[in-house]
Amino acid sequence: MNPLTQPKTFIRHQRIVTPPKNQERLSGWGNYLVGESTVITPRYEEDVLNTLKERNVVARGLGRSYGDQAMNDEHSVIDCTQLNHFLSWDPENGVLECQAGVSLEEIISVFAPQGWFPMICPGTKFVTMGGAIANDIHGKAHHIDGSFVNCVISFTILLADGRIVMASREENADLFQANFGGLGLLGVILTVTMQLRRIETTYFSQRSIVIRNLDHMLETLDRYDHEYNYSVAWIDALAGGAKLGSGVITFGNAAKLSELPERLKANPLKLHRPSKLSLPVFLPSFALNNLSVRVLNGVIARVLNSPAPFVHYEKFFFPLDSINNWNKGYGKRGFIQYQFVIPEEGGKKNLTEILQLIAGSGCTPFLNVFKKMGEGQGILSFPFSGYTLAIDFPISKRLLSFTPRLDEKVLEAGGRLYLGKDALLDEKMFKAMYPRYGEWLAVKQQFDPENVFSSNISRRLGLEV
Ligand SMILES: Cc1cc2nc3c(=O)[nH]c(=O)nc-3n(C[C@H](O)[C@H](O)[C@H](O)COP(=O)(O)OP(=O)(O)OC[C@H]3O[C@@H](n4cnc5c(N)ncnc54)[C@H](O)[C@@H]3O)c2cc1C
Repeated sequence: MNPLTQPKTFIRHQRIVTPPKNQERLSGWGNYLVGESTVITPRYEEDVLNTLKERNVVARGLGRSYGDQAMNDEHSVIDCTQLNHFLSWDPENGVLECQAGVSLEEIISVFAPQGWFPMICPGTKFVTMGGAIANDIHGKAHHIDGSFVNCVISFTILLADGRIVMASREENADLFQANFGGLGLLGVILTVTMQLRRIETTYFSQRSIVIRNLDHMLETLDRYDHEYNYSVAWIDALAGGAKLGSGVITFGNAAKLSELPERLKANPLKLHRPSKLSLPVFLPSFALNNLSVRVLNGVIARVLNSPAPFVHYEKFFFPLDSINNWNKGYGKRGFIQYQFVIPEEGGKKNLTEILQLIAGSGCTPFLNVFKKMGEGQGILSFPFSGYTLAIDFPISKRLLSFTPRLDEKVLEAGGRLYLGKDALLDEKMFKAMYPRYGEWLAVKQQFDPENVFSSNISRRLGLEV
């Protein structure tokens, strides 16, 4: 199927209209911080210009950041999800140009059947290209593929002074680099030119290993990391003593056509189906407690430990997408995802102390994902070489007094938190964790000296000039 023959492509109007505006209550995926903003929904790139009249705006994609990254209380938010057209496609080289509101889901749906797939996939396919750049997202192969910057050739961006410029490694290189992890605070990204990866099948071969403790976890990661491109571990964060750091590691590689069993060869580039399952209402906040989490952890360990040898990308990359609105399972008070990275050196000692701190905190850690990361890239990008752990915590009073202690420990270990998930850091701690913030502010000063692009997180962390 040629995407350029589809109706959603080539819709690039020259008309400038005033896009619709609505007062809306917005939150991040964690449903914890909630605020009211004017939401403007431009349908054409040219209309985005009009939104600058507001003088205090921030772009929003599919709202999959966990905290206040795409929120701008009492000011304006530009909903970019209608800017979702494909613009050009080079089938020889796999180079796609699209508007920044196109999601990974849309790219996969059109290009996977043609044998092309996004190079970097996070844990959900419901992220836009603008959002992927603004958080410089990473996937299960960060140690091999790096972060999202590695698949972007160039983008166009609407700046605070109304100019639309191209940024790439050669042209406006400082603007290009500072946007990866730049939280949408340098402009509205309009179009993106990116490299896709050739695939023979939409399946992955996988292998799981049950992990006894942290020593075993780190040894196993080191031993198999070079054999497999993808690796991710689940840790039972309630396990202590001799079982501290126990869990299950899953390794995987993209499956070649010749490797697939006959029954899968019939449709080797099979697509996902839209999920019909949904959590229609918030579950009561007490539903997740240490007792229920212990039971659920047992179920998770059993499921992870009996993998099929070949698995479809939907299960491999995006298992949580099988239930729409699963975030409501954490109750109305919401939850945070606490994701940190710490250096490999001293990693075992620091991870032990952090896991002990969490297990003894009285908070309820759930869905704990552990990965090894490769070299770091952008100025405010999260990843660097070391270990990363992401933990969901339902919001409670105890949690709010606990995370500052955890932040101190992560900082002491030479680590930092992922800003795309954060909801609680303060300016002082952020600046200690991201010592290169001054370099980023210099780019902000150059391109947006009046802070036209502003958001809740930019005010919370002092990302303003
Ligand atoms: C289940 C789940 C799993 C996840 N797994 C991972 C993972 O494995 N790795 C990872 O790195 N992340 C992961 N994430 C986080 C997610 O990938 C990022 O938060 C991503 O940025 C969300 O994209 P979005 O389109 O929803 O953007 P939003 O959340 O709406 O916005 C994110 C940021 O992008 C900016 N932005 C959006 N559009 C534009 C634009 N056009 N121009 C300029 N700025 C823009 C916003 O201002 C904001 O700062 C996960 C999230 C969920 C819910």
